[in-house]
Amino acid sequence: MESTSASVPGAPDWEQIGEEICCPLCEYDLHMLTTPRCPECGYRFEWAELLDPARRIHPYLFEHHPEANLRSFRRTLLNGLRPRRFWTSLHPAQPSSARRLVLYWCVVALIYTVPIAAELTAGFVSTLGPLQANRAWVVAFYKTARGKDSFGAEVKRFGSIEAYLDYYWPMPNSPATLWKHLRYTRILAEMTSYLLFPLLYAWLTFLSLLLFGLSMRRARVRRVHVLRCVVYSTDVLVWTGLCVLLGAVISRLYLGTSVIEGWGLKGCLAFAVVMAVASIYRLYVAYRHYLRFDHPLATVLVSQVIVYLVGANLIAPQLL
Ligand SMILES: [Zn+2]
Repeated sequence: MESTSASVPGAPDWEQIGEEICCPLCEYDLHMLTTPRCPECGYRFEWAELLDPARRIHPYLFEHHPEANLRSFRRTLLNGLRPRRFWTSLHPAQPSSARRLVLYWCVVALIYTVPIAAELTAGFVSTLGPLQANRAWVVAFYKTARGKDSFGAEVKRFGSIEAYLDYYWPMPNSPATLWKHLRYTRILAEMTSYLLFPLLYAWLTFLSLLLFGLSMRRARVRRVHVLRCVVYSTDVLVWTGLCVLLGAVISRLYLGTSVIEGWGLKGCLAFAVVMAVASIYRLYVAYRHYLRFDHPLATVLVSQVIVYLVGANLIAPQLL
C-alpha cells in the first residue's frame, strides 16, 4: 500500500473526495493512492484527468453526442484523420459506450459496403452477356455439319444440347451453379478480398488484440477500451468506400467500364497494403497515447500478423 496524500506533491487530498475514483482502464479502486499509476494494470495518468468532471464529456465524440448523430459522426470521422490529436483529446476516464461504438462501426460498414457491393454486382451482371453469347454460339455451331462432327457424340451422351450446355456453361440460376460461376469468374475472390475481409478486419483485430492482451499482463483492461481503439482506427473504410464510389462514377462517365473489373490481383494487393499501413499507424497512436502501453508498436504489429494470416487463409483458396 502506498502512503497517503498530504506529503506527496500533486497527489489528491483524499479526505476531501467523496466519490469513488477508479482506474478508467480496469476499474481498480484508486482510493488513497498518491502515485498516478494503476497498481493493477499499470496505466499511467494525471490526477486531473480523473478528478476533473469537466473533462469527462468529449466535445464532439460520436459516443458522447447521441443528440447530434450526424454532426458527431462527421466530426469524429474527420478528426480521426489526425490520429495523434484525436487520441490525445480522448481519455479512458471519459465514459465509453459499446453500443454507440458498434453503431458507429455499422454506419462505417454501410458506407463501405454499398459502393463495393454495387461494383461487384455490376461485375457479376457483365459476365452474363458473354456467357449467353457463348451458349448461343455453341447452339448455332452444333447445327452445322462440323459442329455435329466435333461434339455430336458428347451431346448424345448428355441427352440434349441444353444438358450439354448446362454442364459446361451453366447459367448461374441455382445456388450450385451460382457458386461455380462466382468461383470461375473470380468474383468470389473479389467478394472475399473487397467485402468479407475488410468487414471482418476490425473484429479480427479486436479479437487478436484481446488475445494478445492476455499475454501482456494488461488483461485486466476493459474490453470496451480496446474496442474504442479498434473502431475509431478502422473507420478508414469510409474513405475507401467513397474512393470506390468516386472511381465508379468517373469510370462510368468517361470510360464506360466498372472499377473493380480491371483491378484484379494488383488492386487487391494495393488495397491490403493501404489498409494495413493506415490502420496499423492509427492503432499504434491509439495504443501509445490512449491506452499508454509500453510497447505500442510491437503490440499492434503482432495482432496484425494474426489478422493477415486469417485474411490470407480466407482469400487464397478463392484464387486457386
Ligand atoms: Zn488499471
